[in-house]
Amino acid sequence: MTIDTAKQTLKHTLGFDSFRPMQEDIVQTILDGKDCLVIMPTGGGKSLCYQLPAIIINGLTVVVSPLIALMKDQVEGLQELDVRAVYLNSSLDEDEYQDVLNNIKEKKVDLLYISPEKLVLPNFQYLLKQFNVKLFAIDEAHCISQWGHDFRPEYTKLRTLKNVFPDIPIIALTATADKITRRDILSQLRLKDPKIFISSFDRPNLQLSVLPAKKRIDRIIQFVQKRKNESGIIYCLSRKQTEHVSDVLVRNGIRATYYHAGMYPNERASAQDDFIHGKINVIVATVAFGMGIDKSNVRYVIHHNLPKNLEGYYQEIGRAGRDGLPSEALLFYSLADVVLLKKFAVESGQPQLQIAKLERMQQFADALICRRRILLSYFGEEVTKDCHNCDVCENPPELFDGTKIAQIALSAIARTKQDVAIGMLIDILRGSEKQDLLSHGFNTIKTYGAGKHISIDDWQQYILQMLNLGLIDVAYDKHHALKITTIGARVLTTDESVQFVNLAYIEERAISASTKDTKTISKRKDTEEVLFDRLRDLRFTLSKHANIPAYHIFSDKTLDEMVHAMPSNETDMKKISGIADKKFARYGQQFIDEITKFIQEQDKAGKKVQGTTQQITYAYYRQGMPIGIIAKERNLKPSTIYSHLAELYEQGYKINIHDFLDKRDLKKICVSLKEKGVPEQLRTLHNRFDGAFEFDKLRLAVAHYRKENMQQGVIEYK
Ligand code: ADP
Ligand code: MG
Repeated sequence: MTIDTAKQTLKHTLGFDSFRPMQEDIVQTILDGKDCLVIMPTGGGKSLCYQLPAIIINGLTVVVSPLIALMKDQVEGLQELDVRAVYLNSSLDEDEYQDVLNNIKEKKVDLLYISPEKLVLPNFQYLLKQFNVKLFAIDEAHCISQWGHDFRPEYTKLRTLKNVFPDIPIIALTATADKITRRDILSQLRLKDPKIFISSFDRPNLQLSVLPAKKRIDRIIQFVQKRKNESGIIYCLSRKQTEHVSDVLVRNGIRATYYHAGMYPNERASAQDDFIHGKINVIVATVAFGMGIDKSNVRYVIHHNLPKNLEGYYQEIGRAGRDGLPSEALLFYSLADVVLLKKFAVESGQPQLQIAKLERMQQFADALICRRRILLSYFGEEVTKDCHNCDVCENPPELFDGTKIAQIALSAIARTKQDVAIGMLIDILRGSEKQDLLSHGFNTIKTYGAGKHISIDDWQQYILQMLNLGLIDVAYDKHHALKITTIGARVLTTDESVQFVNLAYIEERAISASTKDTKTISKRKDTEEVLFDRLRDLRFTLSKHANIPAYHIFSDKTLDEMVHAMPSNETDMKKISGIADKKFARYGQQFIDEITKFIQEQDKAGKKVQGTTQQITYAYYRQGMPIGIIAKERNLKPSTIYSHLAELYEQGYKINIHDFLDKRDLKKICVSLKEKGVPEQLRTLHNRFDGAFEFDKLRLAVAHYRKENMQQGVIEYK
C-alpha cells in the first residue's frame, strides 16, 4: 500500500484535493504499521488520519469513540461517501446488532465504531479476535486522563488492549495539548515506540473578538439576525441563562433552542439533532454541549460569559469553522462573570491552579496585543507575527491616563475600611442616597459622590480594568469586599500612574463586531451571496429528503468554491474540493443545474455574469430551449449558438448532439474527417459534400470527431 493509493482515495472517495498539514505523514505512519499519537486542534482534521488508512487497508479498523451522537454523525457521513462504516452501540436493537456483526464477519465492513465499554468486554474481544482487525483508533483519547476535563473511567480499561492485541497498531487522537494528558495517553495505552504528531494549534480562519457585556443581549440579537441562515452556538454559564437567551432569540424571529445537562436525555438529544440537521440555526448551551459535534458549518461561537480557562475557550470556539471557511468567535466579558468565576475557582479543589488559569483568561479578554499571539503562546507555540484577524489587530486599543479615576476608587475603598463590595463602592462614588449606604454613614466620607460624572456601566468597566491590572482584589470569604493590593496601594499613595483603555474605543469595537454582516466575513460579492443562498437551500432540501445533516451532502466550503468557480460540467465540478465521486453521482447534476439556471437568470436580467458567453448559452440550453429561441433571447445569430454548443461539447459539457445531427450523417462526416483530415476551413468540408450538410451540423460533427480522437490544437471556424 503506498501513499499514492492514499492520495487517489483522498480525492476520489473523500473528495479532497490535498492533505492538511501532517495528515500525509500520519497516514504513512499507519500504513507502515506503527503506533502514533496525534495532537491537533478541534477541527484540525483528525478523523481523516484513521479513516483514510481504514478504507485502503484490507481488514477492519476499530474506532473507539466516547459518544453515540459522535459515532452516528461520523458513520452517516462516511456512508454518504459509500465508505463501509458501521457502529455498534446501545441504540441498535437485537436484529440490527446481529446484522452489523454478520456484515463484519462477511468482511463487508472497513470501519467499526464502538464505545470503550464495549471494546473492553472479554466476550467482545474474543469475537474481535475472529475478525481481521488491522488498526485501533482511539478518538478523544484525552478521556483516558484523570487530569483532563473529560475524564471517562471506561477509557482507562483500554489499558488491556495491547495485551490482547499486541501486534495491532493503535492511533490515539486528541485536541488536548497539555503534557500530563499526553503522558497519560502514552503510558495507559502502552503505545509501542510511538510517533508523536503535534500540529500547530492555530486556526487562522477563526476571527476573534471580545466585547464588554453592556447591552449584551441586544448585541447578540443584532449579530445573529445578520446571520439568519447560518449556524451558531452560544455558550452561557448557567442553565437558566441558556433558556432565557434562547427565549429572547426565538421572540426575535430566530430559530433557536437551548441545551443543558438539566434536561431529560431525550430533550437534549432532540435539541442536538435539530441543530445538526439545520432545523434550528442557533443552540444556546452550557459547556455540556459540544463534544462530538462535528457539524462542519458552524459559522460562529458566542460566549455569553467569560469561560473559566483558555483550554475550554479554545475548544469551544474550535467548533466553529471546521470546514476552514472564515468563522467568528465573539466573547462577552463582564465584571460579574469575573467575580463569580473567581469564587468558583477559590472554592474548587485546586484554587491556586484554577485562579491562575482564570487570570490567563482575563488577560486574554483584556488584551492590548494580538489575541491570537496570546492564545498560541499559551499553548506553547512561538508566534512572531500579529494575526490581523482579531479585533485588537484590526483596531488597536487607545489608552489614557486613568490614575485619577483609579485613585478616587482606591480612596473610597480605603475609607470604607476595605469592607464594601463592588455595588456599594459604585453607589458611594456616584453619591447615591440608598438607605443602606446612608445607614452606614458612607455619605460622610471624603470621596462620596466624587465619581458622579461617570455612569454605573463605565464604573464597572473601570473597576474590571483595575481588577485585571491587579490594583484590587475580591475577598470571596468576606462578602466579596474589595481589597487594595500592594500595586493598588502604590497608585493611591505615590502617584504611580495607571493606563486605562478608552471606553469609547471599547464601545466602538463592540458596535463594529456586532453589526458586521455575513458578507464582510465570507468575502463573497452580492451576486455570489445570492447564489450561495440558493445552493444552500438546495442542499437543505436534499438533506431533508435524505434525512441526513446538510453538511454531510456538501460542506459550506464546497458550496463556497462552487459559487466562485460556477462549474457547469462534470469535469469542472469534480475539481471542486469536497466533490468525491460518489457525491458527484448523487448530487452533482442537481447543483450544476442550479448554477446553470442562475447564470441564465442573471443574463436575462441584464446582469453581468461570471463565465464565458458559451457558458451562458449552455445555461439556456440546459433549460431545454430550442436553438432559435436561445438566439433570440441572447440577441445572437443561431449559428453562433451552434458554435457555442460545439465548443462546449468538445470541452466535455453534456450536450446531446444527436438532437441536431442524425447518427448516419455524423458517421459520414467523421469518415471523411478521418480519411482526408480536418480541413482548416469549414467551407472546404462543406464543399467535400457538395453542400449537402449545413455549416452548423458540420461544426458539431467536427467537435465530435475531435473529442473522440482527443485531437489537440484549436481550429476556429468562423
Ligand atoms: P477534528 O476531529 O480534528 O476536530 P475533523 O476530523 O472533524 O476534525 O475535521 C474537520 C473538518 O475538516 C471536516 O469537515 C473534514 O471533512 C475537513 N477536512 C479534514 N481533512 C481535510 C482535507 N485534507 N481537506 C479538506 N478538508 C478536510
Ligand atoms: Mg474529531
